Amino acid sequence: MRIVFMGAPGSGKGTQAQRLEKKFGIPQISTGDILRKHLAEGTPLGLRAKGIMASGGYVDDETMLAIIRDRLAQPDAAKGFILDGFPRTVAQAEGLSHLLAELGRPLGAVVLFEVDTDQLVKRVSGRRTCEFCKRVFNVNSPPPAGPVECIPGRTEHSLVQRPDDREETFKERLRKYEEDTRKPVSHYYAYTGLMRTVDAEGSIDDVTQRLLDTLNAGGGKLAVAKKRAPQRRSPAKAKARVRKVARRVVRKAVKKSVPKRRAAAPKRKASRKPARSTRKARTRRKSKR
Ligand code: AMP
Repeated sequence: MRIVFMGAPGSGKGTQAQRLEKKFGIPQISTGDILRKHLAEGTPLGLRAKGIMASGGYVDDETMLAIIRDRLAQPDAAKGFILDGFPRTVAQAEGLSHLLAELGRPLGAVVLFEVDTDQLVKRVSGRRTCEFCKRVFNVNSPPPAGPVECIPGRTEHSLVQRPDDREETFKERLRKYEEDTRKPVSHYYAYTGLMRTVDAEGSIDDVTQRLLDTLNAGGGKLAVAKKRAPQRRSPAKAKARVRKVARRVVRKAVKKSVPKRRAAAPKRKASRKPARSTRKARTRRKSKR
């Protein structure tokens, strides 16, 4: 299973990726998390990305492709992966296609999570991440049923808000997502037959169910890109279609049987001089006389 999750910040793709990770035993690869780790560790990449991330911009494509190349080479990605937050530009999508073609491991699906903007704002303003186990919670929704374990040795989570979830940065991320990611990247994948959309509003469980249905509808096994199976028509629709085709055939036959009228020749402008051929004929007649 090799999947790309696309969606606005706050669309819940990270949460769903974590669920699929558990269910199928394949890693969620979040480029945002990788960059945040670099930031926390103070690596040169982290230092370079810091300002960009704080303003809601994008880290350059070359760096992001190098990160993905390294990450996909790790053994846990051999069985499959869920890319969360990558690709974000057409250049990244093209780079990913080349990389996966080189590895002989094509994508199975690209899922676009769709959520209304007001919902996104509500979700993101309440989003909190546990500093230790990195699980994501929301202060605006009821807590998950039953205890959710933190890392071993900790009984409580330590919830913090991501700096880039604050209102101004979030608005810029949303704008950038719409302009640089959703429109161009979904257009790039639209022609591959891999693209699917999921209504990502409602409860987390409902979205998971819809997501699994969508993935299964693509043919169950997602390792290989498949063409969409032809849809079966209802008997009424099938009849209507037969009638439509029959009408078209009859129309064509009738058209053929009716002789075509010749198109009227374009009228010549009356000329004072008689046409050359007419003059010649007159001279010939004169000389005969
Ligand atoms: P995320 O957690 O996916 O919302 O990512 C947080 C931030 O990391 C983004 O706002 C970008 O600044 C940066 N980032 C993550 N993934 C990418 C990517 N594929 N291309 C460029 N920048 C990225």
